[in-house]
Amino acid sequence: MRLAQERGIFGLIKFNLFGQKQRFFCVLLKIILIVNWLIGINNCNYAKERQKMLARYESVKIVGAGISGIVCALTLAKSKIGKNFSIKVFENTDRPGGRAHAVKVQNSFVDLGAGRFSYNLHHNVKKEIMNFGLSYEPFPFTKLWQSHEFHKSLKGVLRELKPLLVEHENDSFLDFLTFYIGGERAEKMIDALGYDSLSLPNITPRIAFDIIEKHPETQGFSDNSGDAWYNLEEGFSSLTEALYKQAIEYGVEFYFNHRLMSVDLDSTSPSFTFLKDGEKKVRVSGDYNVLALPPTVMSRLDCGFPQDWSDCTYGAIPLFKGFLFYDSPWWEELGLTDHVMITSNQLRKLYFKGDKYIFFYTDGDCANFWKDSSERGSEYYLKTVKELILDALPSPLNELPDPVDHTCKYWQHGVEFANEYGPQHPLSLVSKCSRIISTSDAYTPHCGWMEGGIMAGRNAAEIILSRVALKQQESDEKVACQA
Ligand SMILES: Cc1cc2nc3c(=O)[nH]c(=O)nc-3n(C[C@H](O)[C@H](O)[C@H](O)COP(=O)(O)OP(=O)(O)OC[C@H]3O[C@@H](n4cnc5c(N)ncnc54)[C@H](O)[C@@H]3O)c2cc1C
Repeated sequence: MRLAQERGIFGLIKFNLFGQKQRFFCVLLKIILIVNWLIGINNCNYAKERQKMLARYESVKIVGAGISGIVCALTLAKSKIGKNFSIKVFENTDRPGGRAHAVKVQNSFVDLGAGRFSYNLHHNVKKEIMNFGLSYEPFPFTKLWQSHEFHKSLKGVLRELKPLLVEHENDSFLDFLTFYIGGERAEKMIDALGYDSLSLPNITPRIAFDIIEKHPETQGFSDNSGDAWYNLEEGFSSLTEALYKQAIEYGVEFYFNHRLMSVDLDSTSPSFTFLKDGEKKVRVSGDYNVLALPPTVMSRLDCGFPQDWSDCTYGAIPLFKGFLFYDSPWWEELGLTDHVMITSNQLRKLYFKGDKYIFFYTDGDCANFWKDSSERGSEYYLKTVKELILDALPSPLNELPDPVDHTCKYWQHGVEFANEYGPQHPLSLVSKCSRIISTSDAYTPHCGWMEGGIMAGRNAAEIILSRVALKQQESDEKVACQA
């Protein structure tokens, strides 16, 4: 009554109605909360399940600690889900870097392997060098000392012949040249270019023009003469070392002195067997497996390479570099400083580096010539080098001083490539018998260059990341179904 008096009759009716409404809403709210709670439990289970899956370590085993293998490992480790990977890299030698290998002689770093990069052609290499703040300097050997009878006319002849290469897609460069300028001149022309591989039967005119345009010593014979080249002050090992150290910081583990002996291609659980320190056999298996090895190594393993991996066949060319250090730079008075000379003898390309040292760089048969010569002992080797330098010099010198130090390196498979190379060639191959990935600079448009190694390594990592994403999606769908 008191309430009716206080609120009035309308107030009372409103209050009761509202009170009922409130109770109704309270009940509804409770139902919503319970349903939410139940869904919450489900979501929570789902999230837990998902987290459990994400937290599961995906193990990745990579063989080869050249730039391809290191970049593959680093790309995975740096990826969004990188912390869920256990990444192990196995390497035959006791150092990272593979064909990037600098040594310090007489206070100078010299590159026994990879030694220069182009600003225009090698964007990924340049970017990594900038990221790590590595010191680089101009690689001056676009300056050619024109010593060959063909050097003056070479650019004009090549310019005239280039439009005709479309009619000779399947011919060799040597046959192509022979067809237009005759056999003798064709051979002299290749001699004047300094790269013996240009006369190989699998080098087509298109590949040959590409080589000429994209090498510092020969680019002057093309319309690409302005390209700037650089080398790293501490050698190319400083790049692979920097990548290697960064990979370690990101949790990648490296195992050196592990030589891959055999591959078990079991399609569900492939595995690798290594010889550790030349003695003990070690078998490893990962969820994801990568062979960051050049094709010649692949074909020595019992893994059906190349037929079970690719429609292409692969080839390799030997390379040799020899460095000589003198008390004084005798080449300065000849005006040769920072020039490269293309010779007709077995030195082929002779470089005069500032006032520091000279070196020569050969491919194919000449590389094998220097391998044989160096194996006959230092005395024989240095005597041969001296005779051939004297033979090549523009102004005859009576005597050459003996070098105070020297170093050299023969690479049996210095450059690796696909014989039937085309832009459609994948950057990585996947075994048809298992899911093992093979990656190498040889598969890329930059075969024979570090740039190709970076591209290949990243590509292998991307394949793994997409496989992990697919697996994740499949298990998400499974969990959602179960829920
Ligand atoms: C003399 C020379 C000059 C060059 N000049 C240049 C240049 O000026 N600029 C440039 O950009 N590039 C140059 N290159 C090319 C460049 O070095 C390569 O493109 C690049 O290093 C390839 O890297 P990769 O990782 O694909 O292969 P690699 O460097 O060959 O790495 C493969 C790794 O696998 C390891 N391995 C091999 N077999 C086994 C096994 N059974 N078990 C375990 N591990 C194994 C090797 O030891 C090596 O570390 C040059 C190469 C040479 C040899």
